[in-house]
Amino acid sequence: MINDLTSFSLDYFSLIGKVAIVTGANKGLGQGYAAALAKAGADLFLVSRSGNWDETREIIEETGRRAVFFQADLANRDSVKQVAAECLKTFGKIDILVNNAGMILRAPLLEYKEEDWDTVMEVNLNSLYLLSQEAAKVMVEQKRGKIINIASMLSFQGGKFVPPYTASKHAVAGLTKAFANELAEYNIQINAIAPGYIATDNTALIRADEKRNTEILSRIPAGRWADPSDLMGAVVFLSSRASDYINGHILAVDGGWLAR
Ligand code: NAP
Repeated sequence: MINDLTSFSLDYFSLIGKVAIVTGANKGLGQGYAAALAKAGADLFLVSRSGNWDETREIIEETGRRAVFFQADLANRDSVKQVAAECLKTFGKIDILVNNAGMILRAPLLEYKEEDWDTVMEVNLNSLYLLSQEAAKVMVEQKRGKIINIASMLSFQGGKFVPPYTASKHAVAGLTKAFANELAEYNIQINAIAPGYIATDNTALIRADEKRNTEILSRIPAGRWADPSDLMGAVVFLSSRASDYINGHILAVDGGWLAR
């Protein structure tokens, strides 16, 4: 028992020698996750749809880690399946998968277009499911792995004007638990981060709406919007050995929003 206690050190948080896939890593939260994992020592396989990589490339280069930049539209299922295969071809393994890519399309419920429902569900849910399944096949062989899904406050609450976003993020929370239950025996941990209100392109519209912005700010105990750097500690923790006994958990990083 004493040996167990003395073996713990800050090295438990190190990701040196690990390979991580991060989707949606060219900007916003995904860029922050990529930077955090690289600073903790991981090499990266980064995915985005537009392939506009200049800023992320500069950030990762400063860490001295290796990064491969892969352009893929995750609304296309064949492209999703290619991501895990290409990472395996390049690095020979997948230690960490951060399912971050996501989108939001706003419209009143009664006017919500069927094709917009399908697009949001495809990107936010179906691609996450398929990529997790492909990565998990590799992790089962390795007998280790970490999958971190990006959930939302709307994994817990209903929201307004974003029905498929809410449905997809509730499903992400459920899938996190379903994957954890089946894969725990292979030393694979699947957890989710539920970000609160973060200043990114995704939230530019509501931040620009003064009334909505004031409503949101007045409900956040921390009294401010977060930025992607507020999420960096959580993603390193959930990717590291330090969190090996945490599985199927949805970790809110929300400045206290859910506690209100
Ligand atoms: P963002 O700045 O709009 O970035 C979204 C990222 O997802 C981009 O890298 C984008 O790539 C990628 N992406 C979107 N559709 C894609 C597709 N079809 N194929 C490949 N990549 C695609 O958004 P964010 O705020 O950082 O959000 C990131 C994640 O956090 C999302 O899952 C979101 O739901 C979640 N989240 C955000 C907040 C918040 O307050 N911002 C709160 C809770 C949860 P391109 O730029 O190349 O299209």
